[in-house]
Parts: sequence; C-alpha cells; structure tokens
Amino acid sequence: MHIREISLSSIKDLKAHILSRAPSIFTSSKTSTVIPYEKIKDFYADKDESFELSLVDISALPQKMELLENGNLSFWGGVTFEEARLFLREKKRDLCVFPTEELASLVGGISTSATGERSFSFGPLRQQVKEVYLMNSNAEILTLRDEVNLSDYFSQEQLTDDLSLLTAYQKAFKPFNSFKNGPFPHFEKATHLAIGTEGQLGVVLGGVLETIPLKKTFCLAIELPRWEEDNSLHLAIYERLQSKRDFVYCLEFIDWSSFEVSAFCLPGQKKETDFIFIEVLEEYYEDLFTKDLSTIEGINLERIMELKKSDFDKWRKEVPRLVWEKNSKRGIIKKGTDIQMPRGHLEKLFSFYREAKELGVESILFGHLGDAHLHFNFLPKDRKEEEICEKFLMALYQKVKQWNGSPFAEHGVGLIKQKYMSSFYTQTQRNFFSFLKKTFDPHAQFFPKGPMNL
Ligand SMILES: Cc1cc2nc3c(=O)[nH]c(=O)nc-3n(C[C@H](O)[C@H](O)[C@H](O)COP(=O)(O)OP(=O)(O)OC[C@H]3O[C@@H](n4cnc5c(N)ncnc54)[C@H](O)[C@@H]3O)c2cc1C
Repeated sequence: MHIREISLSSIKDLKAHILSRAPSIFTSSKTSTVIPYEKIKDFYADKDESFELSLVDISALPQKMELLENGNLSFWGGVTFEEARLFLREKKRDLCVFPTEELASLVGGISTSATGERSFSFGPLRQQVKEVYLMNSNAEILTLRDEVNLSDYFSQEQLTDDLSLLTAYQKAFKPFNSFKNGPFPHFEKATHLAIGTEGQLGVVLGGVLETIPLKKTFCLAIELPRWEEDNSLHLAIYERLQSKRDFVYCLEFIDWSSFEVSAFCLPGQKKETDFIFIEVLEEYYEDLFTKDLSTIEGINLERIMELKKSDFDKWRKEVPRLVWEKNSKRGIIKKGTDIQMPRGHLEKLFSFYREAKELGVESILFGHLGDAHLHFNFLPKDRKEEEICEKFLMALYQKVKQWNGSPFAEHGVGLIKQKYMSSFYTQTQRNFFSFLKKTFDPHAQFFPKGPMNL
C-alpha cells in the first residue's frame, strides 16, 4: 500500500475529492494520540500494493467564527481551540471545554468527542455541541441538530424503517451514560453521528458550540504525599469536591514522577511530592478553604499555593506534551491509559497502577482526578520494555471491563487502541456500526480500518 498526503483548501476541492471515492483519513491539527501519523503504514500492512490511502489535511479550509445573539459560537473550518478561546475572550465569553492540547481543532475535537480538565464542571464537549455540519459521501452538507433525537432523524430522513438496531445499541450503552465517553460512541442525538465517530461517517466542516460568560477564577496547587505511599488525601479531596462541580472548574492531578521527568517546576518545588491542581470560581474561593479543604483530616493548608493562571496553563500542557515528544523521539507508539472509573472506584485504579510501577519501566501518572480519569503513561526505553508494558495493558483492559469502567474516556480509539477493544464490542455494536457504515459510507471511503470496521 502507499500513502498519498494532500492538503485541500476549498470546499469545491473537498467535494471533488469525496466524489473521487478515494479511501481517506481526513485530518485537522493532527494532535491525535491514537493515530500514529508517522507510522500509519504499519496499520495497513495487510493491504496489497495497489491500495492507496489518502491522508487529507483539511486544516486550511476557509475559516469563520461568529458569536451568535444567544451567546453560542458558530464556526467553520480548522479553527483551533486556542483561536476560539481568544476570539471569545474579547467578547467576554469562554469555551466550556477544551482539550489540554489547544492547538487541536474544534472539528477534530468534535470528531473525537474531546474532553478536558474543565469537563469536571461542564462534561465532555459533546454536551456543548448544538449543531454540526457534516459533508456526506454525496458531498452534500448535512446539518445535524442536537435538539433532534437520532431515532427521529432516521425516521424523518427515511434512513431506516426498523429502529431496533439503534434501540439495542442505546440499551447496551446505558452503563456508560455517566462517563465522559464510553468504549463506543454515544448515539442519542442527531449531532452524535459526527461526535466521537472519528471521521468514519463523513467530514465535519463546522458547527455551533455553547459558550459561557468569562468569569474570574483562581488556580491552586495542593501538595500531597506520593500516591504510591499514601493516597488517602487524594481520595478525600476527590470525594469532598464531587458536589462542587458548579464552582470548581477542574480538579487535576500530577504525580511526583511527572515533575521529575519534566522541566517545569512550581515556585520553590523540590519535585518530590504529588500535586492536585484546582481551578475555582472567585465566588467560591473562601468557602473552598473554610467549608471544604479545612475539614479534610490531615491536609496541610500551608502547603496550598496560589498559582498564576499562566503557570497553571503551562503545567497543564507540559506533561502530556512531554509524553508525546519522548515517545516520538524513541519511535515508540504511546503506551498510556485513558481509563475512567465509576464513582467510588478510584482506589482500584490506583492499586492497579501501583502494580504497574513495580514493573520497573519509567512511568508517570497525571490527569483528571475529579472524574476518576487518570492517564498512566509508561515511557519504555526499548522494544523489550515496550513488550512488558503491552502485556500489562492487555491485562488492565480486561480488569476495566470487569470493573464496569470506561477504557477510553477521551482521545478516541483511532488505530492504536483497536487491539484492546474486542471484549468491549458485541454483536449489538457491530450490527449498528454496519448499518451506519452502509448508510453513510456506502463506498467505504471514510477512515478505512477505523474502529467501526472491527
Ligand atoms: C499533548 C496532548 C494533550 C492532549 N490532551 C487531550 C485532552 O485533554 N482531551 C482530549 O480529548 N484529547 C486530548 N488530546 C488528543 C487530541 O488533542 C484530541 O483528540 C483532539 O480532539 C484532536 O484534534 P485534531 O484537530 O488534532 O484532530 P486530528 O489529529 O487531525 O484527527 C483526529 C481524528 O479525528 C478525525 N478528524 C479530524 N478532523 C476531522 C474532520 N474535520 N472531519 C472528520 N473527521 C476528522 C481524524 O480522521 C482522526 O481520526 C491531547 C493530545 C496531545 C498531543
């Protein structure tokens, strides 16, 4: 097989490309951690020499942003989360949710059902998407609205006279309703045909997102013992702030070993301890101390620092970027987890990660503590260590299934994570995916070998 890399900058060219039926993966900012862009060929090794995969960069399509009267953001093209935030800030508005990597595009975020640290307060991006503009295999632009249920959409568009496949799929999804994302997409609304489907049903061109008024927040860092030795305070803070999601935008975690391998340092920090990071609304700042943190046994209020927003943002980006860079330099495909646990089961995840530490491979732990959604990342230095990690991850995903956790609460499945999926997909998902692919991708041109083909 071979790969043809192209970039399209007009809707006319995009239409022509779609109508050419060339098997394609459409990309925007290319920050996905589940599509190994440099090693993509390895995943199509079973295809013969005549197979050509187009890697179509659509980030240069014409861009547009407009703040609508109701405060929603309408956008077209490859606008990044950073650009959208800056645009909104001037108008005293803010995005609810953005992935840590703000160079990611809004259309990419929709396609992968992105989440971020503010998902603690606002849920995943999916909940703020009001409309999506999706180009289908006939090169027509569909407007998908969040007020339309998927079952009604199918009936209105006469796409099926039998909704039993959808009903069975939705029933099977129920255990994952409370997670940011489940192991397969959340199909309830018409918009969901584009959200988290990773470009397998068409190309996302733009949409409308709900925004919020820009409010003053404070950022705090709480120093804690290393989680491997004593995680009682980690768990106590997690529990205490669950009911404060209206005031606490994010509740994030970074462990001592992440600091050890990164260049970033908090003022006066010795890099020997863990930290919890909190972004809190000004109106709740006093109460956070007097009513919540001060009542947690064992907490040392003197070890709580206020951070400049810029330092807080720098930290957020530094650690995941470092993992990305380290793996790329070593030519290693990311060996990290994206597991979210059901409420009250966070300790199980910590226990399993303690076992992971004992494997002796360099590793770090960070992520969205408030949502029991932590990223354990191995940093293997060679193939031998990579194999050890692989074996461990395979066993871990079996455990996640038993625990009723979500294996991939953000980042999607892409190509890299398909090998862990088999136990999460049953005939119910396969039947519905097959219906969707036949209906929306009759020429099998959108993301060949994407997770819906499993
Ligand atoms: C350092 C770092 C931190 C990250 N932190 C987070 C995080 O906190 N939360 C999170 O959710 N993710 C995170 N990610 C992952 C990544 O940023 C997100 O998955 C993001 O949504 C991808 O956007 P993108 O524009 O880069 O998409 P791309 O990498 O270009 O594409 C990703 C997928 O979406 C599809 N796609 C892209 N654009 C379109 C389109 N227009 N139409 C149809 N399909 C399309 C592609 O085919 C591909 O399957 C992080 C990544 C890095 C490197």
